[in-house]
Amino acid sequence: MTTDWRALEARYFFHTGKRMPVVLVRGQGTRVWDENGKAYLDFFGGPAALSLGHCHPVVVQALVDQAQKLIHVSNAVYSIPQIQLAHLLIQNSAFDRVFFCNSGAEANEGAIKLARKWGKEKKNGAYEIISAENSFHGRTLAMVTAGGTERYRAPYAPLPPGFVHVPFNDVDAIKRATNDRTLAVFLEPIQGEGGVNVPDDDYLRQVRAWCDERDILLILDEVQTGFGRTGKLFAYELYGAEPDIITLAKGIGSGVPLGAFMAKEHCAVFEPGDHGTTYGGNPLMTRVGHAVVSYIIENNIPDRVADLGEYVQRRFASLEDRFDFVVDVRGKGLIWAVQFDRDIGEAVTLRCLEEGLIANNVRPNALRITPPLTVTEEELDEGFAILERVLPEFAS
Ligand code: PLP
Repeated sequence: MTTDWRALEARYFFHTGKRMPVVLVRGQGTRVWDENGKAYLDFFGGPAALSLGHCHPVVVQALVDQAQKLIHVSNAVYSIPQIQLAHLLIQNSAFDRVFFCNSGAEANEGAIKLARKWGKEKKNGAYEIISAENSFHGRTLAMVTAGGTERYRAPYAPLPPGFVHVPFNDVDAIKRATNDRTLAVFLEPIQGEGGVNVPDDDYLRQVRAWCDERDILLILDEVQTGFGRTGKLFAYELYGAEPDIITLAKGIGSGVPLGAFMAKEHCAVFEPGDHGTTYGGNPLMTRVGHAVVSYIIENNIPDRVADLGEYVQRRFASLEDRFDFVVDVRGKGLIWAVQFDRDIGEAVTLRCLEEGLIANNVRPNALRITPPLTVTEEELDEGFAILERVLPEFAS
């Protein structure tokens, strides 16, 4: 008798989110297989976490090698993989110091703690963080507060004070919200969970200039956009606006739980005892991180993503031309959303799943794709063929 995994899940779990009706048991590259052996193209990717796809040989090799050597030690001692990964990240970015953790939310928590300490020491106790409506920074109490979705924070009040929200892509709103208490502006360069919202080309540069003028920090959450996703190693390069602090996760580990935040020296105010973690940066995860980031850099993956991004844009543009209920297409590199004129995101996603394509209804009216950065043009064609088969069913 086969096990009904979905029934067991329904019995045992807190139902904190809706799952797609599929039980996945195996993955390779852009493809995954369910418990019945049916294959799917995975354009959701973890979400946006599987930079090198499923079970990439460099990830598997790093896991196996390191697992046979040293899996975990405390951060009270030195371990080589995390120092090697720190070196690689700092050599390839605008930052001077790093802290490793296990997830995006933790990276953001650490970044906000660092900024708050900087505010106490260097800016007369300033503590207010300006973040954006529709932003997503993770699910801890402080991060649902920083995030721009009321529904995610309302049940948990009282919330930590010191977060204010402004519309995304509106530098004047940031200027109006700035006061003597303002410590930092905290943004995703492109909003991922908020629906793949791409700002104007000069938005981040203008925000950077404002932060400089008012001596406040710019913190960029590149948990989703980092490590080649947008066609540059980091999205701040795309916009010519270096943050003071950057947060990272997802693509850094291609499927293993690893996060980090990095800062420039001028705001690297942590001292012994200020922050810590048991598992963050452990040898197993950082060895994988080093393998993944090395692979991304050595194989010019960001350039490849930029080229594929142009291809994806053309394919989506042709969908927009063909189907009048497709009202917007937005994205960069390999993060894209297609918006419909009504809330059919979930229905379209479920039909794609039946046809063998895993995508994501990032908004009730939008479908997002964040395939592995190693996806081939043929796989993209296969995915678009499925979309082209499914979308006519939704013509009104
Ligand atoms: N920040 C951004 C931009 C994200 O997209 C996410 C997750 O989707 C997070 C933070 C939270 O990361 P995690 O789920 O690893 O805590």
